[in-house]
Amino acid sequence: MQYTLSYWERETFYRDIDVAVIGSGIVGLAAAIHLKTLDPKLRVAVLERGILPVGASTRNAGFSCFGSMTELLDDLTHMSEDEVLGIVEKRWTGLQRLRALTGDAHIEYKGLGGYEMFTSEEEGIFQKCLDHMPDFNRKIGKITGHPEVYRVVDERIPAFGFHHVKRLILNQAEGQVHTGKLMQTLLAKAVDAGVRIFNGFDIKHLEDHSQGVDIETTAGWTLRVPKVLVAVNGFARNLLPALDVQPARNQVLITHPIPGLRVEGCFHYDRGYFYFRNIDGRILLGGGRHLDLETEKTDNFDANPRIREALTDLLHTVICPGQPVEIDTWWTGILGLGPVKKPIIRQVSPNVTVAVRLSGMGVAIGTLVGQEGAEMLL
Ligand SMILES: Cc1cc2nc3c(=O)[nH]c(=O)nc-3n(C[C@H](O)[C@H](O)[C@H](O)COP(=O)(O)OP(=O)(O)OC[C@H]3O[C@@H](n4cnc5c(N)ncnc54)[C@H](O)[C@@H]3O)c2cc1C
Repeated sequence: MQYTLSYWERETFYRDIDVAVIGSGIVGLAAAIHLKTLDPKLRVAVLERGILPVGASTRNAGFSCFGSMTELLDDLTHMSEDEVLGIVEKRWTGLQRLRALTGDAHIEYKGLGGYEMFTSEEEGIFQKCLDHMPDFNRKIGKITGHPEVYRVVDERIPAFGFHHVKRLILNQAEGQVHTGKLMQTLLAKAVDAGVRIFNGFDIKHLEDHSQGVDIETTAGWTLRVPKVLVAVNGFARNLLPALDVQPARNQVLITHPIPGLRVEGCFHYDRGYFYFRNIDGRILLGGGRHLDLETEKTDNFDANPRIREALTDLLHTVICPGQPVEIDTWWTGILGLGPVKKPIIRQVSPNVTVAVRLSGMGVAIGTLVGQEGAEMLL
């Protein structure tokens, strides 16, 4: 729909914006709230193209994960140990800030632990995890304050009822949140702080002039604001093509409630390529991007039948074998990835700062990334 702004729209709704935050995911909302905390007089607007935030923050699995063992070992193949531990620390700090900002009850934070599952074919990688466990426990214990973050809990496998799973490593410090309630709480906090939130605000182009930033909308009109923080994660290249952010789609399913469900906690399967958890007596299961990597390098929300078939198979053969489990619904979400698992928080021009590329870490690290972006912009 193309239209020009009316005098009334221009002089009331869109008047007097000091900072425009683009994107109302975890990062955009955390940034907007932090800007108001740092300077309550600042007039902050969040510009979001969806009716709700539509990227990753309302579509994820809600794991407050800060590093499972195979993930950290994989990170160590292309990052230094200091960098890997630095990211773990940021994820842990981000999680504490999120919990302090929202309160555990509002986001249904539950410290149920996170489990890594290994089949008999994965004995090699399991042994590698065992070798590194004392070292990881010492180093990550210093960050989290937990004396024994990782431990082997094979004895729990029968109670969960899994098939084909031979080994289980528990991350005692991992928790889970209710993704919808988390985002509802952040939106309410932003409004309470005096942030104006505009939905349906689809931005096509940004132009930084010395007098401010021109924000051109797909509706055909342009708004000029003094400062902009871009928090659009996997969609970053649409606005700033030079940024090294790869959109990556993920498929997710949720079952109907399963009577007598024994699964409790967050679970990482096949080196974390699949993940599942319990929620409201159901199983939420997602991932499988590695099965069709090229197709999933996209920011469109379509279904991938091949991956959905693999997820359905995993549900019935490994997670809930022999149980009458029905799928309630499916959805997709878009991640923002890079060559290394590190967010980009950077000033890209005099009046534009970006806080993007959260990978699969946004639940834990997102609040910190938003807050750091806000501080850089001021
Ligand atoms: C299926 C799935 C499962 C995940 N599971 C987990 C998990 O369990 N734990 C975890 O830590 N992380 C998980 N993640 C990752 C996590 O959700 C993200 O890292 C985090 O939500 C990113 O937040 P964000 O605010 O940066 O981006 P987003 O939530 O993607 O927000 C970006 C916003 O920008 C808006 N936008 C984009 N372009 C424009 C434009 N041109 N104009 C205006 N607005 C625009 C979008 O509509 C969107 O609302 C998962 C992600 C997915 C997709």
